[in-house]
Amino acid sequence: LNGLMMDRPLSIPAVMDYAADVHPERRVVSSTVEGGIHDYSYAQARDRIAQLAHALVAMGVKPGDRVATLAWNGYRHLELYYAIAGIGAVCHTINPRLFPDQIAWIMGHAEDSVLFFDLTFVPLVTALRDRMPPGIRLVAMTDAAHRPDVADVVVYEDLLAGQSSRYDWPDLPEDTASALCYTSGTTGDPKGALYSHRSSLLHSFSVVLGAPRSFGRGQRILPVVPLFHVNAWGLPYSAPLSATDLVFPGPRLDGASLWDLMQSQGVTAGWGVPTVWAGLIDEMRKRGAKPAALHTLLIGGSAVPPAMIRALESEFGVEVLHGWGMTEMSPVGTVSRPEPDQDMETRIAARIPAGKRLFGVDLKIVDEEGARQPHDGAAKGELLVRGPAVISAYYNDAAANAKAFDAEGWFRTGDVARITPQGDLLIVDRTKDLIKSGGEWISSIDLENAAVSHPAVAIAAAIAVPHPKWDERPLLAVVLRAGMTVSEAEILAHIGATMAKWQVPDAVAFVAQIPMTATGKISKKDLRVQLADHYTG
Ligand code: ADP
Repeated sequence: LNGLMMDRPLSIPAVMDYAADVHPERRVVSSTVEGGIHDYSYAQARDRIAQLAHALVAMGVKPGDRVATLAWNGYRHLELYYAIAGIGAVCHTINPRLFPDQIAWIMGHAEDSVLFFDLTFVPLVTALRDRMPPGIRLVAMTDAAHRPDVADVVVYEDLLAGQSSRYDWPDLPEDTASALCYTSGTTGDPKGALYSHRSSLLHSFSVVLGAPRSFGRGQRILPVVPLFHVNAWGLPYSAPLSATDLVFPGPRLDGASLWDLMQSQGVTAGWGVPTVWAGLIDEMRKRGAKPAALHTLLIGGSAVPPAMIRALESEFGVEVLHGWGMTEMSPVGTVSRPEPDQDMETRIAARIPAGKRLFGVDLKIVDEEGARQPHDGAAKGELLVRGPAVISAYYNDAAANAKAFDAEGWFRTGDVARITPQGDLLIVDRTKDLIKSGGEWISSIDLENAAVSHPAVAIAAAIAVPHPKWDERPLLAVVLRAGMTVSEAEILAHIGATMAKWQVPDAVAFVAQIPMTATGKISKKDLRVQLADHYTG
């Protein structure tokens, strides 16, 4: 028996229409590429989104076309998210930190027909122009006064000028593609996750339910997590839905710039990866204070070191929420759901796991034969997921699709995890980052967490390097905090205090910096190449 309810589609432009109707005065604040602060309301955003939609149609953009962006977190990028999806086209966000070769490859694979770019990326666009899909149109995301010296470029504000600020959005089936994002390609070529109106909205509802203190009237959220990758964890939709102000940091993501913006704009919550918050913590220590209104940092995208949780919670009284997810999951999978009013040690311990699943995300762990393992906190296995905001296939990639799903259709995350009876997810490692020493597995994340709890260690990365006797042994690369020194023996003894003797690395490589991926994570692939001969040669 079917229900007798209307079959109205979930729609992305309806989100901004809703925000403009119900909380028209809530703000979108942007630190701009051109310099200075731009500040407008959701009502004004809605009007400009309509103008942009008319402009896209006038340019000849058709439903299903891929329209690319190379841009920081700012109001024009937000407008593109809505206008492109609203007319039934696909907003293809490109990560500008990828290698130029990868960007050219991705644009060709996506067959982008228009590229919108921030002024920062003029040199990149100029260098890549000949390798972009033929006939592509270029739009600089600025006004006529800042028109860059690029042949045949159109300026964003000129496009909008004179267009109507009302748009009659088409009724699209809710599974219409809305956005496309490629993984960073830590293994092989990048792979595309193609989101829909339905998946984006369901994901955004679950995000608000999963981290409720970050949202609502009076809350001001700062996504450091980029609009150019993983949908800024759904915030472009979750914030307008929930009357939350958005504060976009633009290109300046160092600790001092973030501190100043958070302070001057009264930011209440920040969401981003650990490396970014390490910079903010240094700045908070320097200034002896957190930004005044800040109460929460949601940290995810790679493992959050317990030492970082301790610093934020106990030194500054900032609540940490730990999250885990993937591009392929829209991206948020789990987030901490801590009890209120716990003592400090319980608070810290509760945030070490990567959190509990969002509504709509199913988790299972399996052994090498694919048999389900119990959620008892002890058994570990490969983590698989399913849900309405998880990809059912990569975009045009038969080879990747053949390997990405199990026989029941669950998506293989490539992570190894444990799940507690309370539903907390503990990420042990990426499958390919586990270190196999003498037949036993060692978690690189555990080693790194132990190392960065030493006060002299700024960044640590553990990798497997070939070893003549044990096949692989862990090697720890360490970047020291400015002005600090410590011996190899002291670091190893510090790790040995919490880990078994055979798990402790045999050596520490002190390095000036550690290679990072385009998403601000440690690039183990590059580090392995750099340090491959450490034990053998
Ligand atoms: P990429 O950086 O390759 O584009 P994603 O941004 O989608 O890929 O990253 C997803 C991966 O990041 C996960 O599969 C997992 O390995 C890692 N990751 C994300 N959050 C966490 C976390 N809280 N703890 C440990 N690993 C994490």
